[in-house]
Amino acid sequence: MSHRATIDFLLYDWLQAERLCERPYHAEHSRETYTAVIDLAEQVATEQFAPINRLTDIHEPEFDGTTVHLPKETPLAMKAYNDTGLLAASKDAELGGMQLPTVVEIAAMSFFYKSSVSLAAYPMLTRGNANTILAHGTPKQIEVFAKGGIEGRTFGTMCLSEPQAGSSLSDIATRATPDVAGDGSGVDWQADPLGQRYRLRGNKMWISGGEHEMGDNIVHLVLAKIPGPDGKPVPGVKGISLFIVPRKLVKADGTITSQRNDVALAGLNHKCGYRGTVNTLLNFGEGKFPVNGQAGAVGYLIGKEGEGLKCMFTLMNEARISVGLGATMLGYAGFEASLEYAKQRPQGRRMGAGGKDHSAPQIAIIEHTDVKRMLMMQKAIAEGGFALALLCAQLVDDEKTGTPEQAERANLLLELLTPIAKSWPSEWAQEANSLAIQILGGYGYTRDFPVEQHWRDNRLNMIHEGTHGIQGLDLLGRKVIMNGGKALSVLAERISETVTRAGQVDGLAEHANALAGALQKVGASTKAAWATGVPEEALANATPYLQAFGHTVLAWIWLELGLAAKAAQQAGQWDIGPLGTGFLQGKLACTDYFFRYELPKIDAWLGVVSRRDATCAQAQADWF
Ligand SMILES: Cc1cc2nc3c(=O)[nH]c(=O)nc-3n(C[C@H](O)[C@H](O)[C@H](O)COP(=O)(O)OP(=O)(O)OC[C@H]3O[C@@H](n4cnc5c(N)ncnc54)[C@H](O)[C@@H]3O)c2cc1C
Repeated sequence: MSHRATIDFLLYDWLQAERLCERPYHAEHSRETYTAVIDLAEQVATEQFAPINRLTDIHEPEFDGTTVHLPKETPLAMKAYNDTGLLAASKDAELGGMQLPTVVEIAAMSFFYKSSVSLAAYPMLTRGNANTILAHGTPKQIEVFAKGGIEGRTFGTMCLSEPQAGSSLSDIATRATPDVAGDGSGVDWQADPLGQRYRLRGNKMWISGGEHEMGDNIVHLVLAKIPGPDGKPVPGVKGISLFIVPRKLVKADGTITSQRNDVALAGLNHKCGYRGTVNTLLNFGEGKFPVNGQAGAVGYLIGKEGEGLKCMFTLMNEARISVGLGATMLGYAGFEASLEYAKQRPQGRRMGAGGKDHSAPQIAIIEHTDVKRMLMMQKAIAEGGFALALLCAQLVDDEKTGTPEQAERANLLLELLTPIAKSWPSEWAQEANSLAIQILGGYGYTRDFPVEQHWRDNRLNMIHEGTHGIQGLDLLGRKVIMNGGKALSVLAERISETVTRAGQVDGLAEHANALAGALQKVGASTKAAWATGVPEEALANATPYLQAFGHTVLAWIWLELGLAAKAAQQAGQWDIGPLGTGFLQGKLACTDYFFRYELPKIDAWLGVVSRRDATCAQAQADWF
């Protein structure tokens, strides 16, 4: 099965992605070039990633004390991916890129996430790592450290978390001290052409892709604190800086040496899912690989001192949207597997008069209403989440190549939608994976079918890249109130515009009214939550707020998709071909489903937000 037709529907019937070719930056492109990239991605993902998804789950990475061993198929899959040129797809031509719109790049990437989310994590991290260096690095750092990632020669990581500091990054303990005195070389390392040079010491936990033998090098982006004038670390996030720490040392001309930097693997984490991505505890600067006779990992400051977290947000924001897409595509994979199963599995008979006739043949379980309900929910989550990811990708395009006004609005909307793009699929596509298991019944609970792996792989997504709780705090504590609520106003304008259009369309007007009501309720609860101005009260129910906000955004998306489906129906598109009219009817049924079964849930979530309900806040530890 493929979501290829839905990609076309979303890109062309909904987002009008061909219009991006009118922008000078994308002038070389057309629907034909988009199609070529997407087709290639589907082919490579299906042939090189999907067949080894289970294998990488069973044969998880191993460490023999010296070397990390991955299945031999993993580097081959990486090579196949790199050969597609997708790592550079949306980059400038002068960097060897294709200047492809991000929305098309993400549509193509979706096949890799669906085929094997844990293998796709390597290029996802490398891409984000290179983009962060492009955004904040010096020309020399870009040349030496970003280009390898863009060309697929090197791999990238993000090193934020520590054993004692996950959500609270202000408490990281890794230190960076200037690499000047004591190394006996007499060289002023501060003047290194690769950037101001420091020595890092500390432990980084949970680092994905932190150690392996693939590629020419691994480029770690590491958060660490530089001591202040009093020799003590500056407290809070203001004390955090960002460093490029290569696994193997690199000369100023970019040549990668064979000398290991002082970054040592302390051990691997053995995970519930997502096992194709090696996950590591790294010790920086413990002296296992001394440099110039000294312990301390060599790192080059990137961006300004004290602005490390700000710079890292380039990577984190990108990673959050990718995490959402990964979760969505796992939802898609489960949906497709359970749909196929439901069409084939005979079990039971229809309700009603003929149902008791045991001599009549059994029906396929897809004929049972409850199974259809579970398929409909999965479809709403997978296709809705995918549409949200593409919308965010198109906002990235508007930021980059739109008019100044488009760019400003896109920037605000993207800031606001990032916690939703990350958290909504992480929560609901996990639920979709659970429903896929349910449809397969006992078989779904075994390792003979793929759906249990989807569920295990997906369980990570509410944890990493900012936990679910942290996303809620970010949304209600920061994003909706930033710049006097400007981003929320931009979203409200966009939703209202959809409501106006849908209000005039038969079959959608009822949903338009419901969406207008939901928007009003979200606005009123935002105000009510902040009515006393006390953060503890306002944020006591930040996660239910996140859920209600997410469902409202997805209702907006489904109304947009309903409008696109109606327009395509009128134009007689999609009537021909193997999919027939059912393709568009399915989109409209999903719009109905979302408005009738899902959107009403927001009332319960927003109720506790508006009341600033303190049931959980006031509970004492000894009450549990
Ligand atoms: C498989 C995997 C891969 C990862 N990859 C990377 C990586 O490549 N690089 C990297 O740097 N990190 C990575 N991480 C780390 C990940 O980002 C952290 O696990 C995450 O940030 C949570 O930190 P923690 O595990 O210390 O949990 P904690 O921060 O201890 O949180 C535990 C619970 O407490 C809640 N909580 C904590 N603080 C608050 C608060 N202030 N308010 C409300 N609730 C709160 C959380 O929401 C969570 O439910 C990875 C993690 C895993 C499991």
